[in-house]
Amino acid sequence: MQITHIDAIPFLLPLRRVARFASGARERADHVLVRVHTDEGLVGQAEAQPRPYTYGETQASIVAAIREHLSAAVTGLDPLATERIDERIGALVGNTVARGAVDLAVWDLVGKLLDRPCRELLGGYAPDVAAAHMISHGDPAAMAAEAVEYAERWGISTFKVKVGRELAVDIAATTAIREALPDAELYVDANRGWDEDGARRAVQALLPLGIRSIEEPVPVDDRDARRRLAALWPVPLVGDESCTSLASTARELDAGAVGTVSVKVARTGFTDSRRILGLCLGRGIPVTVGSQYEGAIGAITTASFAPAFAATAGRAAEVMNYTDLADDLLAVPPDVRGGRIVPPSGPGLGIEIDEDKLDHYRLDSRPASAAA
Ligand SMILES: [Mg+2]
Repeated sequence: MQITHIDAIPFLLPLRRVARFASGARERADHVLVRVHTDEGLVGQAEAQPRPYTYGETQASIVAAIREHLSAAVTGLDPLATERIDERIGALVGNTVARGAVDLAVWDLVGKLLDRPCRELLGGYAPDVAAAHMISHGDPAAMAAEAVEYAERWGISTFKVKVGRELAVDIAATTAIREALPDAELYVDANRGWDEDGARRAVQALLPLGIRSIEEPVPVDDRDARRRLAALWPVPLVGDESCTSLASTARELDAGAVGTVSVKVARTGFTDSRRILGLCLGRGIPVTVGSQYEGAIGAITTASFAPAFAATAGRAAEVMNYTDLADDLLAVPPDVRGGRIVPPSGPGLGIEIDEDKLDHYRLDSRPASAAA
């Protein structure tokens, strides 16, 4: 079996709410459906989410990177040669999310070829994983109400609170959530929104609320401030925007500030995410499987990775922000029960695209050959 080409289909989904955070806002769910085609008719699929405020990629740049570079780079390769595919797509520098989505689509294809779910192929440690929800910026009372809604409706007990605004608002929001849910596991993500002094003052006020960790408090390039803050705090500094690749994660761990790493399969695929996990295991650094506001396809992709490994199966994975969307492409939505997400049992990622919805939401014109 050989890969014949990769399709990159831009689509736009309606939002139920705009997600705001210190580094930007997810105002449009303008994602890209990636389809890796083969000469035997099997197709691997995944979703790419442009996050220009983090990686510089846009929907148009992701489509162009795949159509103009990555498709030709893997054409003719055996889908099971994942290391060779990784080498070829790695020849395109930057374009993190485009390359990650191609890697995920190849893994979906591998699972279909072998007739096993990706969760089993990656390690198969556990059948499911606890789900965490990210609460974006809003009025503190509304943020607390959202946490309660997710606790009651979905059984969620782990929340990442977006901070990095004015200290008083950050403290009021986190306090409101803590008062509404005294037993919830809380951690905060400033998305580089504080300066060093602000981070000191904010965290001094937040620590008595029982926060578990602090994600990207200050600019990533301010390495001295990160080290000083990490040394000061009794809970770990989480590397997210500072740890977007295997090499940058290694540099961050060497620099000594990061005490937990957020691994996101949407940017490092399964292949590099697994390598980053290995790097962290070797250094004794815990990993949280994180989110970049994926849709339902991305939630299932994350839910296929996190329970596969002993080191990640026991920590809640950030998967719930697909619920910020008013509609999605999947025929069957993610399976969330009792605070846990259960990945599909079908081969690969186990996802089925509703082709009518794809026709409705796609931004390009559907080629005649796509009917096959
Ligand atoms: Mg983050």
